[in-house]
Amino acid sequence: MGMLQWRGDDLPAPVAEDLASLLYKILRRCSTSLDLEMTLNEALAQTIEALGAERGSLFLLDRAGRVIRQIGAQRGLDEEEFAWRVEQVMERGLAGWAVRHRQVALAADTKKDGRWHRFPGDRKEAGSAIAVPLVHRGEVVGVMTLQHTQRGFFGLDDTLLAEVVAAQVAVAVANARLHDAMRREQRILRGLIAALPDPVLLLDTSGRVTLANEQARALLGSDVLDRPLREVVGVAEVTTAFQIALERGEVQQIEVDLEGKAVFDAALVPVPGLGIVLRLHDVTRLRRLDELKSQVVAATSHDLRSPLAYVQGFAEVLLQEGDLSETAERCVMGILTGVRRMYALIDHLLDLARIEGEEDRIAEASCDLRPVIDSVVDDLSKRIEAKGQALEIDVPTALPALRMECVDLQRVLVNLIENAVKYTQAGGRIGVVACEEGDGVRISVVDNGPGIPAEAQTRLFERFYRVDGAGGRRGGVGLGLSIVRALVERHGGHVGVESEVGKGSTFWFWLPRAASDAPVP
Ligand code: ADP
Repeated sequence: MGMLQWRGDDLPAPVAEDLASLLYKILRRCSTSLDLEMTLNEALAQTIEALGAERGSLFLLDRAGRVIRQIGAQRGLDEEEFAWRVEQVMERGLAGWAVRHRQVALAADTKKDGRWHRFPGDRKEAGSAIAVPLVHRGEVVGVMTLQHTQRGFFGLDDTLLAEVVAAQVAVAVANARLHDAMRREQRILRGLIAALPDPVLLLDTSGRVTLANEQARALLGSDVLDRPLREVVGVAEVTTAFQIALERGEVQQIEVDLEGKAVFDAALVPVPGLGIVLRLHDVTRLRRLDELKSQVVAATSHDLRSPLAYVQGFAEVLLQEGDLSETAERCVMGILTGVRRMYALIDHLLDLARIEGEEDRIAEASCDLRPVIDSVVDDLSKRIEAKGQALEIDVPTALPALRMECVDLQRVLVNLIENAVKYTQAGGRIGVVACEEGDGVRISVVDNGPGIPAEAQTRLFERFYRVDGAGGRRGGVGLGLSIVRALVERHGGHVGVESEVGKGSTFWFWLPRAASDAPVP
């Protein structure tokens, strides 16, 4: 018989105390320790002691039922022999039976129990044994076996105790596995973040840094952990973008000039349940190249004007001289058309260089929209008429003034309305619509022209980008929309396009209201 007997009310007081203290010890270890090896060793040792067993072992199983770890099993066997024995026990022995049947197995007398697997030549053969499966949430995570050389040593009562202990040990195994999995995932996450070439920070929802890779520490200081974003990066726009990313759950992307250090493309990516990931990508070189390119373009465009003036001058002289054959006259006219187009291209390039290099005098700019629309439409009226197109203007009378100089607003509208006229078929419809939106005005130029394929839409505002295929590559050089975007963004606005092939396009831009037109609080 085992040392502990479990008979409800009949339980003698000292025994009940033993049982209570055993369970308490195991429970405590199981619920507080995440070190699986230690917990299991202790649980096994205490169960052996409490049941008066001579030996015991504990096997942990993977999901496929294979033994992945063993505790307290016979020592002094080589690895191969041991593995073979484990296999035998699991296939034919009491432990295997307990696992397959998911229930405790008592072999009160191993000689009379067919479930007991005998290894010939075993000197300390068990006379009595218990095997109990460790079951957690329906999954068998292991099996514990207790043995005694004396036959009839274990009884039914011992199986009850073994079951109670097994339930606790199963919880410990599940917790430790969860902990292991978490640690592994954490290692993967840290490894990935460390391997990224860009500085990366993880911020909690209050904006404190909870994780920073080496690159982030090198850039922002070694003591970034636990400090607020506004202190660590020190750029107001980043803090604002963080708030927006958090509130809307949308990725925010801005360009940040970390004074003296470099220009970064900062992406704030919301990760549900974690916070916000801030990735800084160094674009200093790109920006420098961009500036250099603008300077080169501006300089060469400027220098191109004088030789062009020669060509134009001489061509005009030839025309005035008269006396040209019909063919020669057609050629000279062709030269002049080419020259005019080159002038237009140069003007565009110079415009773009000027807009990008312009110092900010934007704060006080102000312009009323309606008169500018009217003048642009007026200038284009002959072309609209010639194509038999219908143009409609829908602009409310009481709109706030916009924060942009009128010449610039005119340039934006000319580009958009001219495109609509140019690319829309004869007899098509064009609309200019404006409405107040947020702290500014949204202006749309709508047409029922050929439309633009989705893949081209994202690139439309790039310099020199022109749409291939139907409707595209007619006349222009692909700079108009990049000028529109540069101008609008310079003034704190944004641009966009919605279009469907065969149905038409809507090019829109939003500009903030002029400072002088701000509503009185
Ligand atoms: P371009 O000088 O070629 O007009 P833009 O930058 O103004 O240059 O426009 C770029 C391209 O976008 C054009 O080549 C044209 O293919 C397309 N596009 C612009 N506006 C429209 C429109 N309203 N409808 C269809 N396609 C358009």
